[in-house]
Amino acid sequence: MSIKRENINQLFSLLQKKYPDPKTSLNYRNTFTLLIAVLLSAQCTDKNVNNVTKKIFKQYYRPSDFVKLGVQKIKKLIKSIGLYNTKAKNIYNLSKQILHKYKGRVPNTFDALYELPGVGRKTANVILNEAFQKPTIAVDTHIFRVANRTKLACGKNPDEVEKNLHKVIPKKYIRKSHHQLLFHGRYTCKARKPLCFECMINKFCKFKNKTKL
Ligand code: SF4
Repeated sequence: MSIKRENINQLFSLLQKKYPDPKTSLNYRNTFTLLIAVLLSAQCTDKNVNNVTKKIFKQYYRPSDFVKLGVQKIKKLIKSIGLYNTKAKNIYNLSKQILHKYKGRVPNTFDALYELPGVGRKTANVILNEAFQKPTIAVDTHIFRVANRTKLACGKNPDEVEKNLHKVIPKKYIRKSHHQLLFHGRYTCKARKPLCFECMINKFCKFKNKTKL
């Protein structure tokens, strides 16, 4: 059985109280560097990405900077990050595309973002949400888990969960719900041992194996 509509409202008003102004933990200095940071964060922790980008973004923060660098130098800069070969090529190619097709500005539509090298559905939605304040939800592993466990929006894959979340979350909560669900999954509804005994949305959650103290 899924969560009742009226309880969904309450659930998000509680998450809203706990995380009133949630933001990404990735460091960036403009929309373009946010895009680079999100791209680097695939299969890598935000902390690792921040360690690497701390030095890079001081000097390089525009598409033209990365086009000038070229793939080999980008590889050297990001070599401590997983999948750096592919990521370096994508960073170079998307910088070129943004520079020539969009005059150096990151586009603000899903289709245009999704067309960029290395940008998938999740990355496009993160950029739209974080940089352009659009009501998108980028379903990552945390959101996927929370949505399925609570039965807020079940689905076999991230796309299905994303579609179902949009159906049930009240409009006024959608934009912030992205980070609120993500943080709830990261800090409370943890993968291995969820902290159900201290979970603020416990009474609405339909998870069968809730943990006790
Ligand atoms: S009650 Fe447990 S399973 Fe349900 S959302 Fe909270 S932490 Fe997750």
